Order: sequence, then structure tokens, then C-alpha cells
Amino acid sequence: LPCHDKMGVPICGACRRPIEGRVVNAMGKQWHVEHFVCAKCEKPFLGHRHYERKGLAYCENHYNQLFGDVCYLCN
Ligand SMILES: [Zn+2]
Ligand SMILES: [Zn+2]
Ligand SMILES: [Zn+2]
Repeated sequence: LPCHDKMGVPICGACRRPIEGRVVNAMGKQWHVEHFVCAKCEKPFLGHRHYERKGLAYCENHYNQLFGDVCYLCN
């Protein structure tokens, strides 16, 4: 959507629609707060910490479940 780019309106990386209000900048893209979600459980982070792996974002639980070397209880 070049017309939006010219106006400087950020486009959501998930739904490709312009973002009005709060913007999440992550992984080189911009997202609606409610559309920046864990790639596994699809829950929005809503400002909570996220973990990135191979261009996808995960919540702490799923990041550790999928990629963690150490049990997160022991971490
Ligand atoms: Zn969106
Ligand atoms: Zn998750
Ligand atoms: Zn453990």
C-alpha cells in the first residue's frame, strides 16, 4: 500500500492494514498490538516479552518448549 507508506502510516505485518494507535515494532515489521502473537499459541504478547527464532515470535513458554536447552524452571 504505497499511499499509506507515503503518509507514514505503519502497516501491520499480520493483517496488512494500516495501524492507528499503538504500534509494535518487532522483527523488522510493525504490528497491531493484538496481532503480534506467539507463532505457536497465537496469543498476543500485549507488551509482554517475546522471543524470536527464525523470523517467528514465541511466548516464553513455547520458546523454551521448542528451543530451550534448559528447563525454564531451572533457568
Ligand atoms: Zn493487524
Ligand atoms: Zn505461545
Ligand atoms: Zn528442570
